[in-house]
Amino acid sequence: MSTYHVDERGYYGDFGGAYIPEMLYPNTEELRTQYLKITEEASFKEEFDALLRDYVGRPTPLYFAERLSEKYKTKIYLKREDLCHTGAHKVNNTIGQILLAKRLGKNRIIAETGAGQHGVATATVCALMGIECVVYMGEIDIARQAPNVARMKLLGAEVRPATSGSRTLKDATNEAIRDWINNPVSTHYIIGSVVGPHPYPDMVARFQSVISEEVKAQLQEKEGRTSPDHVIACVGGGSNAAGIYYHYLDVPEVNIIAVEAAGKGIDSGESAATSALGKEGIIHGSKTLLMQSPDGQITEPYSISAGLDYPGVGPMHAHLYRSGRAEFISVTDDDAMQAGRELSALEGIIPAIETSHAFSVFDQKKFGSEEVVVVNLSGRGDKDLQTYIDYFNL
Ligand SMILES: *Cc1c(COP(=O)(O)O)cnc(C)c1O
Repeated sequence: MSTYHVDERGYYGDFGGAYIPEMLYPNTEELRTQYLKITEEASFKEEFDALLRDYVGRPTPLYFAERLSEKYKTKIYLKREDLCHTGAHKVNNTIGQILLAKRLGKNRIIAETGAGQHGVATATVCALMGIECVVYMGEIDIARQAPNVARMKLLGAEVRPATSGSRTLKDATNEAIRDWINNPVSTHYIIGSVVGPHPYPDMVARFQSVISEEVKAQLQEKEGRTSPDHVIACVGGGSNAAGIYYHYLDVPEVNIIAVEAAGKGIDSGESAATSALGKEGIIHGSKTLLMQSPDGQITEPYSISAGLDYPGVGPMHAHLYRSGRAEFISVTDDDAMQAGRELSALEGIIPAIETSHAFSVFDQKKFGSEEVVVVNLSGRGDKDLQTYIDYFNL
């Protein structure tokens, strides 16, 4: 049977693998040989499920958006990941990884963060478990994302500035990798999306797969069937998308739609529309599609939403694009902001601007009146209030 899941070698079709420096081999090898064994143990599942229920607040509701459905003449359901503790889906993954780290005997966690959302989700679970936490962040990002830096500090994490290069996410990643090479025994590196060397993309996708597992049961109850006709998510690295696609990847009747950030327009030079602009290359240890110059330099991405501002996509998504399994759509800043405002006014839900991109699909595509469309509402918009204020002159 053909599958869109990872193979034993860590590939999704042509994409994935582990393209890492020799010195990182022991770290990823320990994870590769242990992650399935540990996460499939009954005691792991029990602890993971209990924390998702009692700490994160799962299952998150599957909400029928009546007014939005009326407007677009189709049946739209929203998977409310915005109601997770910390305000987005990211915590599903950080809980899973910290439980894994504990079982591997690690007493120290490192992470890198750009916008700060993954740093906050990581600092949160380290506080929960009483484990030392160091978050690497570019000096420029530290200045741009002051509230998230303050959150991480309140949660007890140390935020270490990356002061080299462009002083943004890529440089923070380099610092985190250097730290991990130097501390292979004590330290686990929590990656925040379905990116990085094998087994990270598969490991993160599995932790996020709880999203579509819940959708199946919730749709059965509401619609009498487990599968929707369409499933929609925004894609930065691709973890919220991987979570809501997961149990539908090998169900061909389900149309998969991925929404990327086109920034100021695909051809503007300021975008993050990886599928439209990306070429095969290697980033963060895996082979995938990424935006690069003709001589292979990674292009600086741009999006109004910090969480979609990433020059690549995870290897699962590169394969979904290349194989045609998923339909990729890109949405500009302006279209996303309008869609975010519309969702706020029609449903009383202010989405994260990342998530707003997914809702712009309804302006680009028509769906049948009896079709069931599930959108992953990946996060809430509190963190983006200032951007909404500035954009709409509120
Ligand atoms: C981080 C973030 C994203 C983008 O990350 P993915 O790994 O692509 O899911 C999307 N939505 C929200 C709310 C986020 O915080």
